[in-house]
Amino acid sequence: MLDKDLLDILACPHCVSLPERAPEGVRKGEMELLGTEQKPEALRCKQCRRVYKIEDGIPNLLIEEAVIEGQA
Ligand SMILES: [Zn+2]
Repeated sequence: MLDKDLLDILACPHCVSLPERAPEGVRKGEMELLGTEQKPEALRCKQCRRVYKIEDGIPNLLIEEAVIEGQA
């Protein structure tokens, strides 16, 4: 289970390092939860669409291990 408050403070490490501002209505590096709160599967960045896997309830926020959605 992943805490909603945690999701609020987590940010995509790729996007927070960029000088560009986030699109309107999106917090810089804002991520959304994939899966369910009880069984979270991954976090997806709303900005760059990188998907960060959640393993045993712990998000893996390594940029190198993230997968960009839509790319093989
Ligand atoms: Zn991002």
